[in-house]
Order: sequence, then C-alpha cells, then structure tokens
Amino acid sequence: MTTWNEYVSERGTIPEWPYPIRYEKESRISADVLIVGGGVAGCHAAISAARSGASVVLAETGHAKRSGSGGAGVDHWHGACTNPCSKVTPLDYTQAVMECAHGYSNGIARYIICSEGWDTLLECEEMGVQIRDVRDEFKGADFRDEETKLMFAYDYANRHVIRIWGYDIKPRLFYEMQRLGVRIYNRTVIMSLLTDEGRQGARVVGATGVNMRTGEFYVFESKATIVASGGGGRLFSFAPEVTAAGSMSNMNGAGVGHAIGWNAGAEFVLMEQTTPGRLTGFGYAPYSMGNTSNTYHGTSIVDANGKEVPWADPYGRQLKTVEERFLPSPGQRFQLGIGIGLHYYLDQYRLNDLSRELIEGIQKGEYVLPLYADLTRLPESERRCIFGMMVGNEGKTRIPIYDTFTKGGFDPDKDLLQAPVMLPESYQNSNFWGGSPIPSLRSLAGGGYLVDWDLRTSLEGLYAAGGSPVFGSGCHGESHTTGRYTGRKAAAYAKTAGKRAVDPRQVEAQKARAYAPLKQSKKGAGWKELNVAIARIMQDYCGKYKNRLTLGRGLDLLAQLRENEAASAYASNPHELGRTLECLSLITLGEMVMEASLARECSSVYLDFYRLDCPQMDPPEWEKLLPMRLEDDAVKLRDLPLDFHLRPPYAPTYEENYERHAR
Ligand SMILES: Cc1cc2nc3c(=O)[nH]c(=O)nc-3n(C[C@H](O)[C@H](O)[C@H](O)COP(=O)(O)OP(=O)(O)OC[C@H]3O[C@@H](n4cnc5c(N)ncnc54)[C@H](O)[C@@H]3O)c2cc1C
Repeated sequence: MTTWNEYVSERGTIPEWPYPIRYEKESRISADVLIVGGGVAGCHAAISAARSGASVVLAETGHAKRSGSGGAGVDHWHGACTNPCSKVTPLDYTQAVMECAHGYSNGIARYIICSEGWDTLLECEEMGVQIRDVRDEFKGADFRDEETKLMFAYDYANRHVIRIWGYDIKPRLFYEMQRLGVRIYNRTVIMSLLTDEGRQGARVVGATGVNMRTGEFYVFESKATIVASGGGGRLFSFAPEVTAAGSMSNMNGAGVGHAIGWNAGAEFVLMEQTTPGRLTGFGYAPYSMGNTSNTYHGTSIVDANGKEVPWADPYGRQLKTVEERFLPSPGQRFQLGIGIGLHYYLDQYRLNDLSRELIEGIQKGEYVLPLYADLTRLPESERRCIFGMMVGNEGKTRIPIYDTFTKGGFDPDKDLLQAPVMLPESYQNSNFWGGSPIPSLRSLAGGGYLVDWDLRTSLEGLYAAGGSPVFGSGCHGESHTTGRYTGRKAAAYAKTAGKRAVDPRQVEAQKARAYAPLKQSKKGAGWKELNVAIARIMQDYCGKYKNRLTLGRGLDLLAQLRENEAASAYASNPHELGRTLECLSLITLGEMVMEASLARECSSVYLDFYRLDCPQMDPPEWEKLLPMRLEDDAVKLRDLPLDFHLRPPYAPTYEENYERHAR
C-alpha cells in the first residue's frame, strides 16, 4: 500500500481525477417511477414498483448495494405485528404510538407499517435474508418460538419485534432490483425536482441530478417520483473526521429530499421537532462500549467494584430476575421498542430499564465509575444472542465491533465491556456509547412531508418513503415497509397518469445552478467550511431553547450564508461539486426547521420543543399540526388537526382507510 505522502514524494504530483470528466454533458432518462435515494426504503420502493409493472429508475448518492443507514446491517425489525406469534394488533400498536406522541406522529404510516411490516420481512426472507433460527442455535431460549423459529427482542411476551440476521439485507435488495431491471444511477446526487411548466406547487414530473464522479448532468423524466432520501444528519453537527461521526445516520444525509420538495411547493409538518443529538457522532463507535440499550437491551451493568445496578420497571418497581427485564409489568399491556422515531413514552408502553436511582447513586458514591456491561450475568442463550447474533448483524458492528473485539480476545463468557466515563446525569439514557450529550447538538426528529393514505405528498406525482421523508416514522423495518407500500402506489398512479414534458427553462436554470461552483474563484469557501458554518448557525440559533429573536437572527444568517459564502463556494471536482450542492440544500433544510419553530408559538414536552418567549407548555389551542409550504417563494401556513387522518375525506377508522387505500 502506498501512503498519500509516498505517492506525492515519488511522483511530485497528486493523483489525477480517476474518472472521465463530463461537465455540461446532459443525459435524459425516462421512467414511470423515479426514486430519489437508494437506502432500504428506496430499494424496497423500487422492487415494489417494478413488481407492479412500472419501469423504474433509482438515483443514489452512494452505491445502492450498501448505502444508507441500513446498508451495513440490522439486527431487529420493529412493527411486525401480524407475525404468527405477535399478541399486538396493528391497531394496538398504532394507538400506543399515537398516545405516547400525544398525536404528534403519523398514524397513517404507523398503521401501514404494522399491517404489512411482517409481509415485508417475509419478502426479505424470500430474497435470502435469514429471519429465523434455522440452525437451531438458540433452541429453548425464552425469546424463541419453537414452531416458527422466529426470535424476538424487547418484549418476549408480546413478540412484535423480530431479531434478524440482517448483515446482508442491503445487497439482497440490490440483487433483486437488478433482477427486476431497475435502472440504478449510483454516485448521483439529485438536486431539484422538476414540476409541470416549472411552477411551484404543480405536479412533479421529474428531477435533475449530477454524477459525483463524472460531473454529468442528468434530467430524469418520470410520471411518479418517490423521495426516499433519509434525513439530514449533517444539519446540526458536522465533523466527519471524528470517530463515529454520523454514527446513527450517514454522510449522504444532507436533507436534500426535504429541500427539493420544499422548493417545489410541497407541504411539510413537524419540522420544528428536534431531539438531543445524542447519537450524532461525538461518542464512541456505535455499540462499541458497555451499555444496555437497543441491541444490548437487558444486559447487566456493574460498577467498578462489581456491584450490580438494579433494573426497574417503568413505575420504579425493582425487578428481581433477568427474565423480568424482557416482560411487561402489571399495568402494562405491552412494551414498545426504542428507535422507532418516538421521543416520548408513556409508562404503560415504556421498556424496563436500569433503576432511575443510578444517577444519584453515582453522585453519592454508592456506584463507583467506570461502569461495565457484564454479559456473564445473563443466561447463556441471551449472552450469545447479544454478543454474536445481534452485534454480528447490527448496522456498522459486524466488522468494527464483533470481528475486531473477538480477534482482540474479547470473550463475553468472562470479560466485561467498559462503559464510557461520563457526567452522572448522562447515565439516564442507557445508550451509553453515545457519550455525554452536547447540549447544543440536536437532530431532526419526525419532521417530513405531509402525506395522505397513499403516502402521497401534497403535490401530484410526488410520494415519500422511509424514515424522515415520511413525517413521524423511523426505523429500519418501517422504512422498508413504507417503501414497499409507496412503490406500488406510485406505480398505480403512473399507470393512469399521462406523461408531461419537463420545462426546458427550469432544466436550464438548474443546470446553471449545478455548475456554478465550478466557475467560482478558487478563493471561495469549500463545502466542508460551508457545512460547518450551517451546523454552527443551527446549534447557536435553533438549539434546545429558542425565541423569536434567535430564530429570526438564524434565518438572517442562513440567508447571508447563501448569498455570500455559498454563492461563491468553489468545487474543484465532481465530488466536491455534489457535496457543495448538498450544502445548498442543507441551508434550505435549516430554514425549514427555523420557519416551523417560529410558527409554533408555544412550548411542548411531547415535541421536546422549548420557546423561551412562549413558555406555556402544550396549551390546548396549539395541539395541532402546522403544515407549511412555499407559494410564490413565500412561506404559507395552515392548521391541521392531529387526527386529520381519521377525518373526512378519510374514513373514521384505521382499518377502513387501510382497506380503501392499501390494495
Ligand atoms: C448503526 C445503525 C444501526 C441501526 N440499527 C437499527 C436496527 O437494528 N433496527 C432498526 O429498526 N433500525 C436501525 N437503524 C435505523 C435504520 O437503519 C434506518 O432507520 C433506515 O435504514 C432508514 O432507511 P431509509 O432508506 O429511509 O434512509 P437512509 O438509510 O438514510 O437512506 C437514504 C438514501 O438516500 C441517499 N440520498 C440522500 N440524498 C440523496 C440525493 N440527493 N440524491 C440521491 N440519493 C440520496 C443516501 O445516500 C441514502 O442511501 C440503525 C441505524 C444505524 C445507523
């Protein structure tokens, strides 16, 4: 292997750009359905649309075989309510989530996810993903059903979250797309939507994009378009060189999918909701440190003297056995898992956890830091399942954690895994590897396109899928499932919709915008500087506590950034060009969050939203969604009841709406 320094000193020059440069070359690609983003949602949408008979093209910034937050794997699949062992119905689960969120979530998406999440997982099994303990490695374990060989996580009594061997789930989807003839444009950043006659608020008829290796300009013409581009992990924090940066999102998550819809005139809701950026990358590598959350749920935690931290149920009652950690308590019908895009849990659905007395105990010296995860205190099957099956299949863990630790000699049968040493209050969240939360770091949480029961946005021809584009939805299985649903809905629309030509003036304007950074002075800012500046503005002016003045100032600063540093930003190759275009979208995304924050003139515990100038907490008159959109480039707002999805023109029940729309 040659190092960078060796290369330069041997040849006296840096390497040439390794791909052919094709700036200004324009290619036209037509399809019934265009998919923006090839994470699990986008890939499953492509498969579903292609199986419905549509011609499909998918554009992906990375490489669809491994791209996105789920590209490296998954170990548990939420919302599989119709699996043969589940004791929770889609309605139970949906209502529980909506109750916890106090209505600030997406009943439509949740009901769809719970109704067909299991079918979607079965489809993955058909594609070759292992979802059962076929080798009988865990025969007899509490979390296993002997007949189906399915294995469950979190709540072993109610069995709606399934443990899976998902390290290869993304390649499996990729091969299926190839088999179905989906045309895949990897290394392509979509940068705008095209609308009928170029009008804001009109039907979406395609998109433009740039190849990040060649610089070629693409014009995609489509009858239906699905945005499945994930979230905007780079909005509040940006430090890609830091270990674990972007740990629970991905570098390509720049909110472009939101920004292009906003510019096209689509309606968005809940963009004001942000949560602590606990997992945004300044902690340890995902799942690498002792903790007892998520994949490690149920793990025993001991202090430096080997004293075990007790577990308690959500009502504060201490649990006596390990087995009880995985069971609902008296007063609970069932427990919901975490990581499903839900910020607030009512006790009746909350998971068991470490006793809340831990923090005080650390302060009083009753527990001595550092803490350790002690897997030896678990039954053997549980221990092998967590450090083995789950850590071996979870995203970003198979090689960095399981393989590295095992080769380094870590043996869960006898070794302890140290937890990070943090401020005592940081131990209130059992996901310790995220590190001490940094107060100014937030992350998007729940905001996205307002969708109807077809998962169609407010614009004709434009659909949404996956965590983030679809407001109020979140995790891995959910993203597959909304992708699968929206793929067939978009395909059905495309069958009846006529093809509309793209507007040549809109295309030309986008092309000029795309190439502007190549034509600037080399003294212009680079994309990394731009990204840091955006993140800094968001941290300072749109952090946990905000008021009208800070938000107004933040909007001014974002506007100035766009007019000055962004307008003169310089890109020296197609990769930098794509990243610079992403930063322009990030500015828009920041504006959306600030505009939505200005619109909500109250504080809300359910939204983790605090306006210092409007301190009243959840006043009844503000219990509503506030859809916002651009009309003639001005922000327009309206009110929408939290249960809009069960009011006319929709039917009054989840079941009826699903029956009407799903098939
Ligand atoms: C380490 C880790 C572990 C996790 N474990 C679990 C788990 O066990 N269970 C669970 O339920 N969830 C888990 N999650 C969450 C889950 O992986 C995500 O919710 C899910 O993968 C989201 O999928 P998505 O397709 O909606 O979005 P993403 O994965 O974000 O995919 C979006 C795709 O769009 C592409 N893109 C973005 N912008 C553009 C553009 N402008 N043009 C073209 N393409 C674009 C991106 O490159 C990306 O590939 C985990 C996440 C991480 C990071």
